[in-house]
Amino acid sequence: MSEKAVRNIVNLSGGKDSTALAIYLRDRVPDLEYVFCDTDKELPETYEYLNRLEAYLGQPVVRLKARGMGFDHFLAMRRGFLPSARNRWCTEQLKLRPFEAFVGTDVVCSYIGIRADEQRIGYISHRPNIKALFPFKKEGIGREDVLRILDRSGLGMPAYYRWRSRSGCYFCFFQQKIEWLGLLENHPDLFQKAKAYENMAPKGFASFTWSDGESLDQLAEPGRIAEIRAQFAAREATERERRHDVRLVDLFEDIVADESMERACLICDL
Ligand code: SF4
Repeated sequence: MSEKAVRNIVNLSGGKDSTALAIYLRDRVPDLEYVFCDTDKELPETYEYLNRLEAYLGQPVVRLKARGMGFDHFLAMRRGFLPSARNRWCTEQLKLRPFEAFVGTDVVCSYIGIRADEQRIGYISHRPNIKALFPFKKEGIGREDVLRILDRSGLGMPAYYRWRSRSGCYFCFFQQKIEWLGLLENHPDLFQKAKAYENMAPKGFASFTWSDGESLDQLAEPGRIAEIRAQFAAREATERERRHDVRLVDLFEDIVADESMERACLICDL
């Protein structure tokens, strides 16, 4: 009986690193497959970026959904208990399991876009038939190289990078306060939807907030907006003084990612 071939899969997040990895590997690994685990709550910019990537690759990015369901289905199953950094059922149900179901018992090389200049370890599948590979780490590819790969492909960065440092759900609890303001400014409708989730806490339980220590209602008050912006501008100024030649886009990502790096989710944020 002939042995089944190993499948090679890039699990895309809609972020710059996994996208650069897909481009980098396209002509290096034969029969590469591309997948994206769709929570149903991604940013419009992410869907648009994936469409552009598909056109570049000349191959579909397979969209996976947990048993055909999205975030709201699993939220209802949990009687309205929203995910948080301490209870992160969303990554498990919406990112990890759909990938494992797609793969089944096949032997798979799963290519992960962690760069050589990152220290992150991941929230990745530990199934024995799924082997995680880190080509950027192995080949010493860092952020500048990733930006070059994206530039040369013509894809550039995802549009949300102007105001948000990572891919993932629009209401992701890992995002920083300045990113919540970015959501409010760029997608007021999604901000309102995120706010509505906060008011869904089951009866008898303390109210839920996506962002540490305050509701989105409080965060969107004019005085609070000014305060968050001023705090961010002060950090920017300090960083700019420290690193004279830093580009604006890097500065934003560095400051925001710096604050959330340890807590962020590998599958959602590459
Ligand atoms: S992006 Fe955030 S909210 Fe969405 S699945 Fe990942 S950790 Fe959960």
